Amino acid sequence: MSVSAALRPGLRAARATHRPLARAFTSGSVDGFVGAVGNTPLIRLEKLSRQTGCNIVAKSELQNPGGSVKDRAALGVIQDAEERGLLKPGGTVVEGTAGNTGIGLAHVCRARGYRCVIFMPNTQSQEKIDLLRMLGAEVHPVPAVAYEDPKNYNHQARDFARALPNAIWTDQFDNTANAAAHHRTTGPEIWAQTRGAVDAFVCATGTGGTLAGVGRALKEKSDGRTQVWLADPPGSVLHSYVTSGGKLKERAGGSITEGIGQGRITNNLGTFVKELDGALHIPDEKSIAMLYELLDTEGLYLGASSALNVVAAVELAQKLGPGKTIATILCDGAYRYQSRLFSRTWLKEKGLENAIPEHLKKYAVL
Ligand code: PMP
Repeated sequence: MSVSAALRPGLRAARATHRPLARAFTSGSVDGFVGAVGNTPLIRLEKLSRQTGCNIVAKSELQNPGGSVKDRAALGVIQDAEERGLLKPGGTVVEGTAGNTGIGLAHVCRARGYRCVIFMPNTQSQEKIDLLRMLGAEVHPVPAVAYEDPKNYNHQARDFARALPNAIWTDQFDNTANAAAHHRTTGPEIWAQTRGAVDAFVCATGTGGTLAGVGRALKEKSDGRTQVWLADPPGSVLHSYVTSGGKLKERAGGSITEGIGQGRITNNLGTFVKELDGALHIPDEKSIAMLYELLDTEGLYLGASSALNVVAAVELAQKLGPGKTIATILCDGAYRYQSRLFSRTWLKEKGLENAIPEHLKKYAVL
């Protein structure tokens, strides 16, 4: 069978996704911010699919109303706290977050009438801090110290919430309502949008909510046929944990990809880490090159974790061979990081200027 014939069922499934999903559009409108979360398009990356002979499809989570994959987790943890009676009208939501979860929480808090307080490491981009404040959240930038240190932003968020009446710490890393939101929505959406023809799913992790939630859903629906792989940036220990059969080493080094990379097995990743089919380590040079490539060839303006995910999807396509459908996540857009990712000075400081192919350097205009 020719490659194109082998591809046809998968191609049909992926191409059919330009039609809106019935659930989101039958009533003509959705209810407010909360109703607009999820049901994002699955984008077939045309050039990369052609090059690999696979269907590379990417869930466009930047199209959530708060602009990232974390809208789902934010809504999931708040709804869970409401259902369990932990969060009552007029209450306060407190979180430690590198940005996107806080932005999702700040939106949901405005829509639901809660006060929102965010602790974040002071290494994060100014765009994200400004946006949180514009959304009415109180932001506390704190020193970026390791999780073991009591001054870590997560512990500060927990302690702040404990000292206040009618306040919850949403605890995105270890509160499994996060992964449950992806298990209930993102995973089944990918399954429906590919008509069940998804051979593999790969993405990077921060909390692990997306990987474990989507991964579990796809494995359940496919009776274990869908492979699930982890993609890891430099400075994260999960890749070596998976490939060494469960040895957790010290974190060393770092990455320019904000929002991903992990030093421990969070509750959201939990036992799912043992069900992973493999892990890929993606250096920043490859993520940056892909970021510019996706802008040039697909017109997609993405954050660095999305680019890393696409690099991983391409590497997985090469490993699994032609005719496969590989799904990944476009976590957010570049808007939140443009002063870094499109600045030659910043890229030079990080030693990444030469990672951009010569003909694409014209996009680094800042
Ligand atoms: N990409 C970006 C830009 C993020 O902000 C996050 C969340 N921190 C992730 C990826 C990873 O998602 P998760 O927390 O579900 O592992």
